Amino acid sequence: MDYNELLERAFSKASSLSKESQDFSIPEADVVPQGSKTIVRNLAKIADAARRVEDEISKYITKELAVPVSIEEHRLVISARVDQKALNDKIAKFFNIYVICKECKKPDTHYASTDRGFIVIVCEACGARYTVKHY
Ligand SMILES: [Zn+2]
Repeated sequence: MDYNELLERAFSKASSLSKESQDFSIPEADVVPQGSKTIVRNLAKIADAARRVEDEISKYITKELAVPVSIEEHRLVISARVDQKALNDKIAKFFNIYVICKECKKPDTHYASTDRGFIVIVCEACGARYTVKHY
């Protein structure tokens, strides 16, 4: 097992632990390859669960994968082949950093502002307010 596999294993362990500690579960992407592109068919569901607009998910995925991503009829169209696991890891990361409150671990958050390269996240469940780097 190489270093990357170890990292990946550690990461998937961490994300399954955080899934068990709360009743909220991070949605899985419904991914279909289409030629040289990859389509995520359930973008609306992911955005709903995150309580973010679809455009925010799209921006994040664009940045993380460094490829053009567009939205077509509530589907995410990624201009590259991405496997389902890689994409789900990105989505889990998005939820863990930008959606799930770092204090109370509930997903009841919104962005209070997205200025100057930072996002201010406010939790409606516990009132926490903190800043994370913008994607
Ligand atoms: Zn909270």
